[in-house]
Amino acid sequence: MRVRVDAELCQGHARCWAICPEVFVLDEAGYASVADELVPPGLDEDVRLAAAACPERAIELDA
Ligand code: SF4
Repeated sequence: MRVRVDAELCQGHARCWAICPEVFVLDEAGYASVADELVPPGLDEDVRLAAAACPERAIELDA
């Protein structure tokens, strides 16, 4: 699965990082990006939960 964060939608709530810090990283202002678009094995469910928790719908998944 692939994941990316739409930087124009992200408002820096950090909920994604709180759920899956292995995939989501925050910049100094709290905005998220992904370390690698390819989700590591075993983290698909956490990434789906993070996407569902994002109030801005900024996390895009590509199965
Ligand atoms: S939860 Fe959504 S809005 Fe908040 S930092 Fe993560 S991607 Fe950005």
